[in-house]
Amino acid sequence: MGTDLYPLEPSAEEMRAMIDQAAERVVEHISSLPSQPASYTQDGRTVASALVEGLPEQGEPLGGLLDLLFDNAVPASFNSAGPGYLAYIPGGGVFPSAVADLIANAVNRYVGVWVAAPALVQLETNVVRWFCDIVEYPPGAGGILTSGGSMANFTAVVAARRERLPEDFRSGTIYTSDQTHHSVRKAAVLAGFPESNVREIATNDGCELSLDALRQCVTEDREAGLEPFLVVASGGTTNTGAVDDLEGVADIADEEGLWLHLDAAYGGFFMLTERGRTALRGIKRADSIALDPHKGLFLPYGTGALLVRDSEALRRAHSTFADYMPAMQHDADFVDYCDVSPELSRDFRGLRAWLPIKLFGIDAFRVNLDEKLDLARWATERLREIPDVEILAEPRLSLTAFRLAPAGRSDDDLNELNRGLLARINARQNVYLTGTSLHGRFALRICVLSFRTHRDRMEQCLADIRDSVADSRAGPRQA
Ligand SMILES: *Cc1c(COP(=O)(O)O)cnc(C)c1O
Repeated sequence: MGTDLYPLEPSAEEMRAMIDQAAERVVEHISSLPSQPASYTQDGRTVASALVEGLPEQGEPLGGLLDLLFDNAVPASFNSAGPGYLAYIPGGGVFPSAVADLIANAVNRYVGVWVAAPALVQLETNVVRWFCDIVEYPPGAGGILTSGGSMANFTAVVAARRERLPEDFRSGTIYTSDQTHHSVRKAAVLAGFPESNVREIATNDGCELSLDALRQCVTEDREAGLEPFLVVASGGTTNTGAVDDLEGVADIADEEGLWLHLDAAYGGFFMLTERGRTALRGIKRADSIALDPHKGLFLPYGTGALLVRDSEALRRAHSTFADYMPAMQHDADFVDYCDVSPELSRDFRGLRAWLPIKLFGIDAFRVNLDEKLDLARWATERLREIPDVEILAEPRLSLTAFRLAPAGRSDDDLNELNRGLLARINARQNVYLTGTSLHGRFALRICVLSFRTHRDRMEQCLADIRDSVADSRAGPRQA
């Protein structure tokens, strides 16, 4: 590779050959996604242990390394890019983003500061502006692309803290629901709050934040001398896809002077659809919104977003100064991302969002998201037809939760039965589902959010569920 003197610099032909070799394996892999098992992690420990090695002194050819990756390492995994992945919150990873990453890494321009690559930074700023438009934020809103929803939630907590609390902020209290994603609690702790300052407000039967309980908790905390400053609402919970009453929470936030952060990491991009806009009514009243393009926009992992209604809040929270840095822009249109986020050097993640949106147009995403809403409703109706199946969460968006609940069984019994049912469904390897616990009841979840999941795979999913239910009735699972 390269010359003897400069081996790190491959020749033009060598670069082309590398890309061709990788492209061959990548395309073959993507073409085989539908026929790959939905999850294959049985001998994970063996596969992982076999790969342990010391620091290599000498290089080796690419072909063997690609073999190692595609033949050994990639297959031992959840098929999280495939059509049968209905677990946790899927996404898939649209292909043009992979091409964008190749380009971004190859040109390796510096996008942390505006002056270093103003036009490339502008492309990322366009993406942030498009996201602001999707959530109906006004001009003056802005934001950042993050590595994911957790970092977006973390940055939101820090921004809210710096906007609403004094330097000594330890009496500040944060309001979440018992369904809020655990990254919010983690964010609070990382932002310096005692964990006991995070309130978990009870939810109603629909798993939505109880407004009365929120109001009461805020009042009690104030009377106790604490400083309520932040409420986090959910725009699609990870557990059941529940959407809080955003107008109701926003009213309380207004009355109480709380910063309202909306965790819409799962549900936010459904704003592209009419049903999503209905479910998320009130979204634009949030002071900040976490989105996860690597979920609802089907981008590859490592792409989140935080939007803030007053973009200057991010600057006030993050801006610092150093003699060795170039001058920052003082212009809302031209952003230095290092000045409004925790990061300085970072990848050009904007291109990963920009290229597919430009290439396909946003309507292609809208249509695909609408299909996901249809599929979740279709699956729920089919589940209802199976005797003794109980729907535990109707789909607000694209997530449905259910269990098998024959009469006369104790809760413990039912939990055991449904754990077994989940294992039987997943053992068929056509789909991969995960479970959760809802108020003590074990539930199976179907989350439809991969752009590769279509009706055929959902029919397979329902067939597998029906067969597995029949097997579960027949008796305990054989080891
Ligand atoms: C996935 C998710 C998160 C965490 O996002 P990451 O991208 O995994 O860091 C936070 N909140 C909700 C509702 C989520 O679904």
